[in-house]
Formats: sequence, C-alpha cells, structure tokens
Amino acid sequence: MKKIIKNNLYLFKYILKYGKSYIPLILISAIFQTIATITEIIGIKYIIDALFIKHNINYLFFIIIIYTLIIITTKLFFSWTNYYFPLISKKISIGMTIERMEASQKLDYKCFDIPKYFDDYTRALNAGESQINILVGSLIASLSNIVTVISVITILAQYSLYFILTAIIDVIFSYFVILRQNKLQYQFEFNNTRLFRKESYFKSICLSPSSQKEDKIYGVINYFKNKYFTVATDIYTVTKKHLLQYNMPVFFQNIFSSLLTASTMLIAVIMIFNSQLTAGEFIATITGTQNLSKQMLSLIIQIPKLIQNARYTENYKNIIEYQPTIEKNKASQNTADKNLCAHKFHKIKFENVSFKYPSCDTYVLKNISFEILPNESIAIVGENGSGKTTITKLLFRLYDPTEGNIYIDDINIKEYSISALRNLFASVFQDYNLYSISVSDNITFGQNTPISKVLKDVNLLSKIEKAPQKIYTEVSRNFDENGIVFSGGESQRLCIARALEKNSDILLLDEPSAALDPVAEHNIINLLMEIKKEKSIILISHRLTMCKVADRILYLENGEITESGSHETLIKNQGYYYRLFNMQAKKFQT
Ligand code: ADP
Repeated sequence: MKKIIKNNLYLFKYILKYGKSYIPLILISAIFQTIATITEIIGIKYIIDALFIKHNINYLFFIIIIYTLIIITTKLFFSWTNYYFPLISKKISIGMTIERMEASQKLDYKCFDIPKYFDDYTRALNAGESQINILVGSLIASLSNIVTVISVITILAQYSLYFILTAIIDVIFSYFVILRQNKLQYQFEFNNTRLFRKESYFKSICLSPSSQKEDKIYGVINYFKNKYFTVATDIYTVTKKHLLQYNMPVFFQNIFSSLLTASTMLIAVIMIFNSQLTAGEFIATITGTQNLSKQMLSLIIQIPKLIQNARYTENYKNIIEYQPTIEKNKASQNTADKNLCAHKFHKIKFENVSFKYPSCDTYVLKNISFEILPNESIAIVGENGSGKTTITKLLFRLYDPTEGNIYIDDINIKEYSISALRNLFASVFQDYNLYSISVSDNITFGQNTPISKVLKDVNLLSKIEKAPQKIYTEVSRNFDENGIVFSGGESQRLCIARALEKNSDILLLDEPSAALDPVAEHNIINLLMEIKKEKSIILISHRLTMCKVADRILYLENGEITESGSHETLIKNQGYYYRLFNMQAKKFQT
C-alpha cells in the first residue's frame, strides 16, 4: 500500500515539475464531469414530469433551455480539454524522455551486457508518460465519482434502497473481474518482454536501410523475416491464450449485469403500477441505478488502476534512480584529479589484473601485470579475442577488474573522478559511430572549434572543402540530399580526427588502420609518429607495420601477456610476435 502511494506520488512530482496547469484543470474537470452526470439523470425526469404532470409549457421550455445550456457548457469544456490535455501531456513527456536519456547515460556499461537488465530497461522505456495520463485520469475520475455517487445515492434513496443494492452487487462482481484482468495483463506483459523485444529487433533489422546491402548478398532479410515470423507467431499464440483468459470473465459479468438491470426495471415498473413513481422518476431511477453502478465501479477501479500504475512506475523508477557502481564514487576535482591535471605524460600500471565479463564464467584476462612509462607509447598485439580491447575497457572504467588493480601515476584509477579519468583519453573504437549530423558536429559535438587542422592531418580536408556546405555538410544523406557519404577508410579517418580534436593526454586506437589503404595507413603512421611527441599512444593493431609507432609491444595470448619489448627485441627473441611478423611479411614476399 505504501509503495502504491509512494510510486503514484512519484509520478505526481512530474506533473508538478513539467505540467503544473494540469492541477487546477483536474479539479475543474471533476466538477464538470459531476455536473454532466447529475444533469443527465435528473434533467430528463424534470422534462418528462413537466410534460405529463405539470402541463406547463413555459416551465418545460425553461427546463429544456437550462438542460441544454449545461450540456453544451460541459461538452465545450471537454472539447477544450481534448485539445489542451495532450499538449500538457507532451510537455511532461519531453521532460521525462530527457530525464530517461540522462538516466541511461548514468547506467553502468555492464548493464547492457545483462539480458535481464535489458528487459527492465525496455519495460521502463515503455512506462512513464502513459502512467502520468493514467494518474491524471484517475484523479479526475475519483474526485467526480465521489461527488456523483453521493448525489445519486441521495436521489435513489428517496424511491427504493433496492436500486442502490443492485448497483452495489453489480460493482462488486465487476470489480473482481477487473482486478483479475489487470493482474493477467501485467503478467502477460512482464513474462513476454523478451519475446516482444526479439520481435521488434527482427522487425527493425528487416526494415532498416542498413540491412538492404547485406540482403543482396546473403539474403539477410529473408532469414530475419523467418525469425520474425516465428517470434510473431509465438506472440500470436500467447496473445490468443491471454485474450481468452482476459475476456472470459467479462462475458459472464455482462450477462449478470444485464439480469440485474432487468430486475431493477421490473421493480420500477411495479412501483409505477403502485403509483410510487412518476414517469419521469421511472426514467431517473433506471438511468440513476445504471449510472450509480458505473460511477461506483469507476471509483473503485481507480484502486487497481493505481496499483497497476505503481507496478509500471516501479520499473521506470528503477532506471531513473539506478545507482551506478562505477560512476558515482568520487566527487570531481578531488585531490587525485588535481594530481592528474598537473602533468601531460602519465605512468600506467596493471597489477595482477584478472577479468571476466558479467554473467560469464571464463576469465578473459588472467593475472596480467605491466607498466607503461610516462612518454612511452605502446602497441598491444595478439590474436582475435585475446583480450586487447578488454584492456582498454578496463583502463577508462567501462568495467572494473574482477581481481587486481590499475594505477595511473601510482594512484588507483578508482580514486579519480570518472570525468577526470575519462578526460585523459581520446579513443577510436573498433565499432566507431558516425552520426547523421554535420562533419563539424561529428568531430566537436556542438563545440564548433576550428577543425581544419585535424581534417588536414587525416587527409580529408580537400574532400570536405569541395562539399556544398563544407564542414557543415551532413555525414550521410539521411536528412540532406547534399550530404557526403564516406567510404569505410574515410569514416575511420574522420573518427581519428575526432580523437585528435579532443585535447587529451593519451590517444587510444583500436585497429585504427583496419579500413585504410596502404597510402592512408602510411600517412597515419607518420602522423602518429608526430603526435607521440606530445602525448602517449596506446595502439591495438593486427598490422605489425602500425607497431612501428610503438616504443614497446605487449603480446597478448589468450588473456595473458606472453611477450613484451621493442620490435627489435621481440624479433630477436623469435617468439609469437616473431612468428606473426614473419607470417605477415611472407604475404608480401610471395
Ligand atoms: P580482442 O580485442 O583481443 O579481439 P576482446 O577484448 O574484444 O578481444 O575480447 C576478449 C574476449 O572477451 C572474447 O572472447 C570476447 O568474446 C569476450 N567478450 C568481449 N566482450 C564481451 C562482453 N561484453 N560480454 C562477454 N564476453 C565478451
């Protein structure tokens, strides 16, 4: 109970924050709703009685005019709310979406590796705004229902308590039906979140423009279309079962309700024959009884509605109030941070670091220890899956080591604030993203700093200068037909420009030359040779030509460092690196 109130109040805070004007309107709507219902019940009684009993035409006209005025005013008011309420709702929705985006930025990166967490995340994305609308509807209904129920009971009690009794029985029956339906609906959505997620994933792949190319070669879309069809069919099956369970009680409840209405009609007819009711009162008691059960039901179902609302809000709250384990620890600009800012070259030390990914049993890194000296640039080399990228993920704390510690300048990286730590690095990820925004924004993200130098460094300046809007040209043609479409290598070079533009102390490059042609690779190597005079470079590369940039090479084998030294030393040692080097060299000799 406490949770239900707490979660609904939690939603109410959003109304106060983003849609204050909802509050007086909720009250006014409740008043108009009450007036409309009462008028509907007693208005007809006065009209019929004026016609058949009082026989007074002026009185009849007066009643009709008052009745019409009230109905028109309430209808006008509700037409206006139909226009205005969605606007307030949109404002709240914008506010909540921004908060949700900020909350997802704060989530630990590991959250996205855990399917259960993804399920929660999806549920939270679907909750929020609709819960606010339910709460507003509930408040309006409850306020108006309370007043209407009291008024209608007072009217009906004058004629017979039986009318009130039938309405109460009807409501009790309907209430339990609705309670069951709500529970079934929540369970249905909760139990099938993953299925729905799969359905939307397969659907989005089939409809996404980026799948079209692979489809032409591999028939990707046909494959995913089949997958979609299988999942959608599963959803169809569970939905069919759910709908049957969901609607069956309603069928019985409708029959029961109709029988109750017939019995009230019978009683009212008997009362007319006994002259206990006029014709107008007959209509008023019948509509009154029906209205009473409708209003009582509407009042009473606000409880399960709010319970349901609280359940959905709980998912939303979990995301918004998620306490990151990595992000929250240190205040920014602490003493350790100041130490970091004091110099440009840093010493990095991995001490007995072991790591396994969340929900995985096997260690990806096994007790590795190494040091990178200030002013030293290193290359990490090794086969696919040996753990090279994982090392970089630990370095800027996307994850923390399962065992062991990492130090920068002899201070455990957990002592630094996360912003200071991540500010040290500029990185080009293997799975880099380019966005459908201008070249300039792709590099500076709205900072609008001059970018000609970095574009020249990566040999893209002349191409971009030729584009219609130069650095303000869109990267891709999603929104602008004059946009530039970059090749794979050019895209990678644009990402390198982005990393160079970030004025950081350490440049982290994960396979930076994977998509580059030999000339571009040669140019990037020369560029890196210049850059390493000003900052340290950590390079992950298969291409041993790139390793020229490094002062030292770490060879990683199956999560362990098996060799370390300069290119010349490793060649002399004739170990794994030597073999890999020879393999690559042979390719050029044959
Ligand atoms: P490399 O960069 O050397 O190619 P990675 O560091 O990317 O290798 O990956 C090392 C191992 O960790 C691989 O076996 C990979 O499958 C596994 N791995 C990478 N990311 C995840 C993840 N998010 N969850 C589980 N396992 C992962």
